[in-house]
Amino acid sequence: MIPGVAADPALKARPAFRLVDEGAPQLRVTDLAATRGDGVFETVGVFDSRPANLTPHLERLQRSARMLDLPALDLDVLAQAVDAAVTAHLPVPELLVKIVVSRGVEGQARPSAWVFADAAPSYAAARAGLRVAALDRGIPTTAPQTSPWLLAGAKSLSYAINMAGLREASRRGADEVLFISSDGYALEGPTSTLLVKRGNRFLTTPVDAGVLPGTSLGSVFELVRGEGAEAAEELMTLAQVAESDGAWLLSSVRLACPITHLDDVELPVDRSLTDRLSAAIAGRK
Ligand code: PLP
Repeated sequence: MIPGVAADPALKARPAFRLVDEGAPQLRVTDLAATRGDGVFETVGVFDSRPANLTPHLERLQRSARMLDLPALDLDVLAQAVDAAVTAHLPVPELLVKIVVSRGVEGQARPSAWVFADAAPSYAAARAGLRVAALDRGIPTTAPQTSPWLLAGAKSLSYAINMAGLREASRRGADEVLFISSDGYALEGPTSTLLVKRGNRFLTTPVDAGVLPGTSLGSVFELVRGEGAEAAEELMTLAQVAESDGAWLLSSVRLACPITHLDDVELPVDRSLTDRLSAAIAGRK
């Protein structure tokens, strides 16, 4: 049985990858991914053996790599490696594939990349609904313009802050986080994009406010526009989200999770719409 597969797709200089045993050692202890979280990554949802939104994920990986001054990635090699990892895994209904790019071993100036596939855990509880705590991220929506070195909106490997946010939410009796900018606007979750319904409008945080451009959002916007609704980026305060006609945290593997409570405020939940949003993200329309 192969529970997961690791591959080693190289960057432009070494246009090949090899399948390796995921249980065997692969990383040097001085790899900057491990010592500094210095690299970028993507997590792709795979439903019935089909990766969802693979091209947008690869393009976002390239964007993140550019933001971290990493060399241009060979997206074709990475796509082939994703394919190989999915094919090598036992068929399961929901798989997640991680693509990781590291700046490489300290002192060697040679980035490296790897891909692995693993069966997704059950997200049934989150998909049923989330109690969300609003947490101040401490930076303003102008940070991408004034302080690009903060890498707001890059999917870097440095997720310790995002995970600390989740632990704080748990201390507050919540399941999830909605980060708020220091100038008072709703941003995103630690691993998810905010979607808000106000009347016939579906809204999300503008990417230039310093959030990650979500790949799931593309599928969701296509769906709701097809159903005659408006879809747009718009800055929203916490109060506006709390007063909305529904809100979700979207992501590639967990899909559309409705927010049932934002701090102490209860939000309406539309189960049928939620199911359609999730199906669109998973490519099961
Ligand atoms: N925002 C952050 C910070 C994330 O880490 C993620 C996904 O991991 C998302 C948003 C949602 O992105 P996607 O829909 O591509 O999974």
